[in-house]
Amino acid sequence: METYPLDKHTKTIVNAMIVASAAPDGERKPVDELPSRRVSICVNQNTVESIKPLSEGKDFQPPETGKLIDLPPDCLLIPALIDCHVHLVLDGIHGFKSLNGPVPHHLISSRLEKMFKTGVLAVRDGGDRYNTAWDYAAQSWKTGHQHLPHIVTTGKAIFRRGRYGLKLGETGITHHHQAMDQILRLKKIGINQLKVVLSGLVNLDEPGTVGPVQFSAEELKFIVQAAKKQELPVMVHASSDKAVQIAVEAGVHTVEHGYFISEESLERMAEKKIAWIPTVAPMAALSDSLRRTGQSRRADTASQAVEEHLEMIYRAYTHGVTLGIGTDGGSPGVSWEKGYAQELMFFALAGLPPGAILEMATKNGATLLGLQHQMGAIATGKKPYWIAVKPEFLKFDHPEFSPQGIFWPES
Ligand SMILES: [Zn+2]
Repeated sequence: METYPLDKHTKTIVNAMIVASAAPDGERKPVDELPSRRVSICVNQNTVESIKPLSEGKDFQPPETGKLIDLPPDCLLIPALIDCHVHLVLDGIHGFKSLNGPVPHHLISSRLEKMFKTGVLAVRDGGDRYNTAWDYAAQSWKTGHQHLPHIVTTGKAIFRRGRYGLKLGETGITHHHQAMDQILRLKKIGINQLKVVLSGLVNLDEPGTVGPVQFSAEELKFIVQAAKKQELPVMVHASSDKAVQIAVEAGVHTVEHGYFISEESLERMAEKKIAWIPTVAPMAALSDSLRRTGQSRRADTASQAVEEHLEMIYRAYTHGVTLGIGTDGGSPGVSWEKGYAQELMFFALAGLPPGAILEMATKNGATLLGLQHQMGAIATGKKPYWIAVKPEFLKFDHPEFSPQGIFWPES
């Protein structure tokens, strides 16, 4: 893998094949039909200044001053990948249950490094009780040390005391008005979005059931409004259709997981422009591990949930719901090296066309993380956060992936 940190003070021309546009809605186009064209991209002062088409056989003149990067024609340049849901505090093996103290920064660095190597250049952290992602990001703000992937932080999650969420937040609240204090505290330290735990976990002993809903629509509305006043979008952990309905009514920013979501909820989400991050990988990994340890009944329940989830992802796509790729990275069985490619595979398995999946992994991710001004597209005015891939990557049929090259603007 080649790395291309682009120097702010050197004008750089990158000649490369890019995907011309995503496949039209509802159409399942084979990957080799995704239109691509060769262009010459000029990056000046860390920003894309122009993109010019290159006709066949006639390559661009090297700039008089500056640098030329000429990518081979069998490489496709795409925007960097974005993961909408990770937990940097987790190791991909043990899960929240075994989390009993803060995690040292060198472990966080190594997890970020692993994601970086798979072409993921921005992540949104779903929070934990030790404020891990925020703590790490804040350390690098202080030292001025630039790190990639960028981290969008949520800090300690809001949940109801005594319910699921003790490892995601701190002590929990007993009354929704208490959310106000926590929101102000989190805003003050500089988190980017707010995380609310609205439901429990999926219960594998009774198919189709989930831990209880923690807030009513009125209560959640209060929390969402309080967050809005602080310009904090709300990311909500919600499984069971009841929880999703409440989240949608309260007008949250993104619904996370959404197991057992209904078609009506999807329609409402499309109307209200509420995005869905389905996180298939952790449930699929759970099913595998249950099967390996001989718990076949629970494994069946989990794989049934995965199958239904894939069906609903396809329906969400046809209803025009904004979908984002979130791995729940760090959860048991969701490794930092493979989680992202696996999640993409599930979206392909759900029947979504490659062009649409690519858009979810890049453009939608950037918008949902509030990074749309810099990332998510190869376009003038944006920053050069890109990866070079073999065209086969866009089949999204392989659980392992490493890009040919990674581009980023060096400050
Ligand atoms: Zn999570």
